[in-house]
Amino acid sequence: MDCQIKRAYYKLFFLCTKKGSRFLPNPLPKQTGRLGPLKESRQMILFVDVQLKKIYAQGNKYPWIRPEACPRCSHYKLWGHGYVTRLFDGFRDALFLKCYRCPDCGCVITFRPKSHFMAIQSSTSSILSSISCRIKTGRWPPWGAKSRKRHWLVNLRRNIKVHLTNTWAQGEIAGFARLQALGIVPVSVRIM
Ligand SMILES: [Zn+2]
Repeated sequence: MDCQIKRAYYKLFFLCTKKGSRFLPNPLPKQTGRLGPLKESRQMILFVDVQLKKIYAQGNKYPWIRPEACPRCSHYKLWGHGYVTRLFDGFRDALFLKCYRCPDCGCVITFRPKSHFMAIQSSTSSILSSISCRIKTGRWPPWGAKSRKRHWLVNLRRNIKVHLTNTWAQGEIAGFARLQALGIVPVSVRIM
């Protein structure tokens, strides 16, 4: 390679490098902290034994007990993450339910009373007593909206067919208990 060709080669190499560096995307930020942007956020409901009347009376001053560890990754400490408000039968206003967040896996944990299924305002016991009353007496109890109670029974029958199959012969009340034991909301409109 003579000097002229060498100079041209080095000039081209320099331009390419310069141009290349100019158009290279910015390097990705290093994942230095434990809360990197690539960590996926998850939601989790934790059912706890609480009295709704006390939560209603004390609002966000209610002394929720912080879980000892993250239920998803077992990280030793959870951070407070504010509250969500949820409606329940028998209360005029929404109740404050405490949330926690795991700094390790990003999981957001929301408390919910054990007495209620997820996303249903009526308590499990009142749903069951309504359905029992209808099956035993042929009438719905006088309290609450009839349309909602009918939906519960329709959904229960459908969930029994879907999850316990047509061979289930032990009745709707036993079906309710069986579905509950399987972790299925018996009156949910959603097929899980
Ligand atoms: Zn975690």
